[in-house]
Amino acid sequence: MNIQFQGAARTVTGSMHMVTVGGKTILLDCGIYHGHRDEAQKRNSRFPFDPASISAVVLSHAHIDHSGNLPGLVKQGFRGPIFATHATQSLCAVMLKDSAFIQEKDAEFVNKRNQKKGLPLVTPLYTEDDVEQTVPLFQGVDYGRTFSAGEGIDCRLEDAGHILGSASVALTLRENSTVCRLVFTGDLGRPNLPILRDPVFAGASEGTDVLISESTYGGRFHQPVEKMEGQLLEPILRAANRRGKIIIPAFSVGRTQEIVYILHKLSVGGKIDHLPVYVDSPLSVNVTDVFRKHPECFDDETRSILSSPHNSDPFGFERLTYIGNVEESKELNDRPGPFIVIAASGMCEAGRIVHHLANGVGDPRNMILIVGYQAENTLGKKLVMREPVVNVFGEPHELRAEVVVLNSFSAHADRNEILHYVNEFDAKRVRSVFLVHGDPDQAERLSSGLQEAGFARVFIPSRGEIGTLN
Ligand SMILES: [Zn+2]
Repeated sequence: MNIQFQGAARTVTGSMHMVTVGGKTILLDCGIYHGHRDEAQKRNSRFPFDPASISAVVLSHAHIDHSGNLPGLVKQGFRGPIFATHATQSLCAVMLKDSAFIQEKDAEFVNKRNQKKGLPLVTPLYTEDDVEQTVPLFQGVDYGRTFSAGEGIDCRLEDAGHILGSASVALTLRENSTVCRLVFTGDLGRPNLPILRDPVFAGASEGTDVLISESTYGGRFHQPVEKMEGQLLEPILRAANRRGKIIIPAFSVGRTQEIVYILHKLSVGGKIDHLPVYVDSPLSVNVTDVFRKHPECFDDETRSILSSPHNSDPFGFERLTYIGNVEESKELNDRPGPFIVIAASGMCEAGRIVHHLANGVGDPRNMILIVGYQAENTLGKKLVMREPVVNVFGEPHELRAEVVVLNSFSAHADRNEILHYVNEFDAKRVRSVFLVHGDPDQAERLSSGLQEAGFARVFIPSRGEIGTLN
């Protein structure tokens, strides 16, 4: 039995790992790779294995870099079950459809240009039809319950506390007389994040043999979660005082609901009750509906807000408007500040946020509030680096708006939080730790921390590398 790392190896996107046991192969995650356009196109459209040979997928959570290439897998022949928590199943139904829409629009855009230049036309990675073939393959499972993901493969999902429905995956693999207990953290959340429960330790009582851990912030420390409210309030008031627009790029899943939840608290507390707030993304609206339908994933505080007769809706409040249609979205361009607009995508690469940025980056009264991880080569990263001129839709724009970067909003555990989680495993029992989902510097720093903590064999696999499990 072995594991082959096919994505999120020495990088943070495209999570995909193949576990082979007794001649059967399952996939842990099937994410989209983000990066340079050509490279991404190549990697995402060609799997390094035959999709028809995969017998099942176990999905850690709904983020597109973990789930986004499932329709591609189905398009190329996969027909097995996709195991995920109920909330992940609901989120994916919405998000994969949106992703197909983006893929189709993207191809349309490229083809317009290619046609003019006499270049060959491209086909979208997948379409809504492929998503329709994919959604019925999902099988929702409860947290904490052991189920079979195939012969010799028992599986259990535990709350990873990262986004709604997120899970760490515990596998018990059996081949002849060999047993391997493997834990894949998925993306690990942080204790005390709004809305969600804290991460649950996924190790088996019998002990864990192999651990695959994420390492996104393996070498960095976040601000404490408790600082979120204050960190958000101070810059918002500053921009509001100069009548600026406060533009917040945020992924539609997780971050948007978190921000809305905190703005709700600030508003109820009378601190920003004069400020209109717009959530400008049809996807965010749908996703917020999914949140409302899955209270089983909420922490005690959110449950108590939901059950209180006053302010019982933490995802919508008096000054908040969810914007579905494009016309209303465009109207925001002409609306004078101050107001807050939250839109996707979180790294400013696609979606309505790009229009708000094109319209807003040139005005020094405005503020761009960065609340999420920005990968290399994205527009979001260029804003974080405060490049004097940024390209939006291929056009240069002077960056005159204030850029504020807040780092307490990460939904990923930081170095201390990962070490705290991993230290619950018995370092003497764990045969190998594989660090994935991290840029090399972060993974290396986490690796030294783990070795100091007594984990003797820590590996940072490259893409395509095979790790033995027996
Ligand atoms: Zn994630």
